[in-house]
Amino acid sequence: MKNIQRFIRYAQIDTQADENSSTIPSTEKQKNLSSLLVNELKELGLSDAFMDEYGVVYGHLPGEGDKIGFNSHVDTALEVTGTNCQPKIIEKYDGKDIKLNEKYVLSAKQFPNLLKCVGKDLVVTNGESLLGADDKAGIAIIMSALEYFHKNPSEKHKNISVAFTPDEEIGLGSAHFDLNKMNADYAFTIDGSSIDCIDYENFNAASAKIFIRGVAVHPGEGKNTLINAILILNELISALPAKETPYDAKEDEGYWHINNLNGTSESAQLDMILRDFDELKLQQRILLINEIAGNLKKKYPKISVDVEIKRQYENMKPYVEKDPRPVQLAKKSLLKNGIAPRSTKIRGGTDGAAFSKMGLVTPNLGTGSYNHHGRYEYIVIQEFEKMVDVVIDMMRL
Ligand SMILES: [Zn+2]
Repeated sequence: MKNIQRFIRYAQIDTQADENSSTIPSTEKQKNLSSLLVNELKELGLSDAFMDEYGVVYGHLPGEGDKIGFNSHVDTALEVTGTNCQPKIIEKYDGKDIKLNEKYVLSAKQFPNLLKCVGKDLVVTNGESLLGADDKAGIAIIMSALEYFHKNPSEKHKNISVAFTPDEEIGLGSAHFDLNKMNADYAFTIDGSSIDCIDYENFNAASAKIFIRGVAVHPGEGKNTLINAILILNELISALPAKETPYDAKEDEGYWHINNLNGTSESAQLDMILRDFDELKLQQRILLINEIAGNLKKKYPKISVDVEIKRQYENMKPYVEKDPRPVQLAKKSLLKNGIAPRSTKIRGGTDGAAFSKMGLVTPNLGTGSYNHHGRYEYIVIQEFEKMVDVVIDMMRL
């Protein structure tokens, strides 16, 4: 139980990020865990461990052969508080409801995945906070693997690089990541769920903001004059392909999604995100938005329609395909530990996608934890422990 106790120790440190903050990292409290990790890395023989001015922790354990990197993020999600997290261990889960507290029950009826771990041991929340297994389970896995080599100095290992980043949950995990400080040939984020997954396909992503300025006059005198910006937005939305929303999109399909809409009859703004695994299809989505906006301008010459497109992240698949080493290594280590590897498509982005674009190919691996971002989050201890063994094998020479 020693490795899971390490996780529980980390989980009790509140490291929730704050999307409304302008400081780096977004919350000072993330550094409480980060500086603890610097000390522990030093104790484990990564004598150069340090935290830089952006709150990113780096450390290196010299060995032989490939320079292999590992990354997990210290911050936790925003949906549920991370304050006063008190993880509970459920031994030999019997498949029945787990009463987290008076109000919340973790039930296999609601989360059928739980039935796969009957007989295994779980870590759950007390219903008051999230668990933060996303991504402190990843941190604990990396630290436990490093501890193995510290305790077994005769075992040969690769050159190991470690980075623990803040603010992943607010999209800034890669913002201040420094490839030189990391110094690795390839790397892994350990930030997923099921431990049989080696994931290296994620969305191509863009955001679009559309600004409409209509023609405002007194509605009583609006005949042939008043052009309502809200109705123009309505027209724009109606021109979008109806069946390509998150509600309709299947596992390998992208979507458009409106996440904010506000305005008056005089001016209105719409914020949306565009997602697709296929870069060409994402480009087509961007073209379509511009085309619809252009048509509206033609139809209503007196209004203004401005479109602002921003690229957010890219599918890492093309980068990973150019350097098959990390995926091959992960596959080999999983198979050695009796796990049949598979790859799933990440319907979002990962820091590894950003690192891959920067030049460090970084697929994502699992942690054995599920239901991230909420009070129903849990770890399957046997999966978590198995992943420690997998990472040890990956680090091994
Ligand atoms: Zn995460």
